[in-house]
Amino acid sequence: MISRDVRLAPMTSWLVGGPAEYYVEPSSESELEEALRFAHEQKLAVTVLGGGTNVLISDKGIRGLVIVLKRFNQAKVSEERGHLCVEALSGFSKSELLKVFLKAKLAPALFLAGLPGDVGGGVVMNAGVGEMITPREFVEITTEIEVWRWPVSGAFHLEKVRMQASDLQWSYRHCEGWRPGLIAKVWVEWPLEPDATILERVREANRVRLQKQPLDKPSCGSVFINPPGSSAGRVIEGAGLKGFSIGGAQVSEKHANFIVNLGCATADQIWQVITHVQNTVQAKAGVTLKTEVVRLGDWG
Ligand SMILES: Cc1cc2nc3c(=O)[nH]c(=O)nc-3n(C[C@H](O)[C@H](O)[C@H](O)COP(=O)(O)OP(=O)(O)OC[C@H]3O[C@@H](n4cnc5c(N)ncnc54)[C@H](O)[C@@H]3O)c2cc1C
Repeated sequence: MISRDVRLAPMTSWLVGGPAEYYVEPSSESELEEALRFAHEQKLAVTVLGGGTNVLISDKGIRGLVIVLKRFNQAKVSEERGHLCVEALSGFSKSELLKVFLKAKLAPALFLAGLPGDVGGGVVMNAGVGEMITPREFVEITTEIEVWRWPVSGAFHLEKVRMQASDLQWSYRHCEGWRPGLIAKVWVEWPLEPDATILERVREANRVRLQKQPLDKPSCGSVFINPPGSSAGRVIEGAGLKGFSIGGAQVSEKHANFIVNLGCATADQIWQVITHVQNTVQAKAGVTLKTEVVRLGDWG
């Protein structure tokens, strides 16, 4: 069912952002197709949200139709060619994917530990961890994706394009080559080579995250991409910005690459903190910080 003027802040891990002009949470392929047909007929722009854990949505909200994929989350697990294979709709959460790999004692459980959001967002962002483990990013476990495309004008028809992961352009926290459209399905797999220590290692990874990251406050994880050969957190801390705040948006005291919502932050205040950090780090350290977080909505 398509609704109007729905608050988007609760759909994001930062808990900020204005309303969606139109809003839908499809739970099946036919419901997603219906939503896209509606957007096409009404000439609405489409914005897709997975877990909303890497987006900064404008306080003015998002015009057009916002499709939230959290209920578009079924998955099939099978064993083929000596591999554990998962075919998942893109709203399948990473934490559920972790459980699948953990049950089989397979290595991908380790990098998935503590990664929020959905598998679709995991592909778009090539989500992963900095530790030198195998695998450590989505590029290493993804085999195929299915992209849904629809025309900008003319009669509505849905094109479902299956793409090999090897035909996409993967880089650090980024994946290109699948646009335009949205990612509807993701196939991942890993060799069936159980590791008896995996549960203990996942527990340890979770313990370290809790110790290092301000997980008690709303955030989007790391705001900035690590500059080549360096760590964004260290550079920001070196510029004396830990604890810097505007309104309810603060550079975390615990981890300088996190900007936390102290409870009353607006998207605009978070963006002001981001630009202050970028300008200060550029001036003091000569380092250009690029954002990992994706800005969505009307920022004009
Ligand atoms: C506490 C915390 C810790 C984090 N730690 C990490 C970490 O260790 N490593 C890491 O890589 N990331 C981390 N993140 C960031 C974030 O979880 C990842 O980038 C995640 O992969 C985003 O997935 P999502 O489903 O939430 O995507 P969203 O935030 O919903 O979307 C991100 C972008 O992808 C687009 N998108 C999402 N789904 C689709 C789809 N199906 N089709 C087309 N476009 C789509 C959206 O439009 C948006 O542009 C962390 C975030 C938090 C809050």
